[in-house]
Amino acid sequence: MDCIFCRIAKKEIPAEIVYEDELILAFKDIKPVAPVHILIIPKSHIPSVNHLAMEDKTLMGDLILVAQKIAKDRSVDKSGYRLVLNIGQDAGQTVDHLHLHLIGGHRLPWA
Ligand code: 5GP
Ligand code: ZN
Repeated sequence: MDCIFCRIAKKEIPAEIVYEDELILAFKDIKPVAPVHILIIPKSHIPSVNHLAMEDKTLMGDLILVAQKIAKDRSVDKSGYRLVLNIGQDAGQTVDHLHLHLIGGHRLPWA
């Protein structure tokens, strides 16, 4: 499977990992758009939100709870942060492996 995030999850490609458990990995975005920019991914290959099934309900909740924990660890929980899921072309999704962006650390412009 030639998916860059699957390869990061399998440790075939290095990344600055900030959180890991059995199902989820979180690592620093290679091109951060803010002082804090972390990507939180399921280790299993799900291309996007369009491909979620009922059985992924808990996983998606877990992704957000991991984001909450990382926001606290990185001290942006009080100042604020944004969680973003890009889906498809119009949203600018460039990696077809579902990922939640956690962005914060300064005032974020909208659109
Ligand atoms: P998207 O635009 O698909 O929502 O976000 C993909 C994100 O993945 C981008 O912010 C991009 O900088 C990041 N990215 C792409 N390739 C790599 C990589 O090899 N390593 C890391 N750490 N981030 C990557
Ligand atoms: Zn993948």
